[in-house]
Amino acid sequence: MAPDETSVLLIYTGGTIGMIENAETGALENFNFEQLQKHVPELQKFAFRIDTYQFDPPMDSSDMDPDAWRKLVRIISDNYDQYTGFVILHGTDTMAYTASALSFMLEGLNKPVILTGSQLPIGVLRTDGKENLLTSIEIATACHSNGRPHGRPIVPEVCIFFENHLMRGNRTTKINAENFNAFRSFNYPVLASAGIHIKFNNVQIHVSGRDKLTPHYLLDTNIAVLKLFPGIQENVVDAILSIEGLKAVVLETYGSGNAPRKEWLLQRLHDASEQGIVIVNVTQCSAGTVEMERYETGYRLLQAGVVCGYDSTTESAVTKLMFLLGHNYSPDEVRRLMGRSIAGEITVQ
Ligand code: ASP
Repeated sequence: MAPDETSVLLIYTGGTIGMIENAETGALENFNFEQLQKHVPELQKFAFRIDTYQFDPPMDSSDMDPDAWRKLVRIISDNYDQYTGFVILHGTDTMAYTASALSFMLEGLNKPVILTGSQLPIGVLRTDGKENLLTSIEIATACHSNGRPHGRPIVPEVCIFFENHLMRGNRTTKINAENFNAFRSFNYPVLASAGIHIKFNNVQIHVSGRDKLTPHYLLDTNIAVLKLFPGIQENVVDAILSIEGLKAVVLETYGSGNAPRKEWLLQRLHDASEQGIVIVNVTQCSAGTVEMERYETGYRLLQAGVVCGYDSTTESAVTKLMFLLGHNYSPDEVRRLMGRSIAGEITVQ
């Protein structure tokens, strides 16, 4: 439901954007929301209500976990009808994981949820945080007006806005530890570019068309990420695949989904799949998709029971697996759903 008046809920989880330099030690420390508003007086210029919710204490995003994602889902769900859109201030380090997780947990989302942050604290003169914050608020309230005061939201998705680009959250990866331009969506076009005008890429934006938000809270973290490298040892693979309670593995392979044709590796993957461990093939390449039928080195994985992760990011594959396993689907059902786009996270031909 749309509220009568335009309004935004600004949720501050932590991260560099809300930090300030300790004059004595030079270290970055969190500051509270009132200080944030003091550093961004422009916030008062928006002609609509901006309410705030602050994580106490604020979290460095390296500490983010499923409990924090559940908390975010709860805040959004409890306040869903009261606001036009939501802006989440978040550390950049794990922002792509949080955005991916939220995209699965907020089923039927029909309002903007925009995550943003910054590389330089908002209290620093050259901060990128101000621009990111102000534009995110604009995007969270942008609507197709059609002559009406409050039309349909333009971007009813979980997104990341960073350095002029709005990206689908579950397509993003942090690619730079120091540049302002820190995020990319390699396998899906940007949803908007912000210059003098904010240009929305309407055909790429997903509209759920659903009226009702269905929040999900169940996540199962019995997952491992196994990154292949030339020379990887049998005992390393063995140690991972025999973790007690392990339910799924994101297997980071080469190129279009290829792995060494070592018999021990294929046998081990085959045995784990037979035991019900879901193994999903994603590429170590930044861009492009897994096609396991393309080379024999990929085809052998398919024969071993490994399923295709298509053009998924690791962040998206990990959180989607947590989400699906949390809902107690059988291994075969999880394998099937990993091959279907449920929140625009993969491109399946
Ligand atoms: N370590 C910080 C965090 O992710 C970095 C940042 O905000 O950019 O919380």
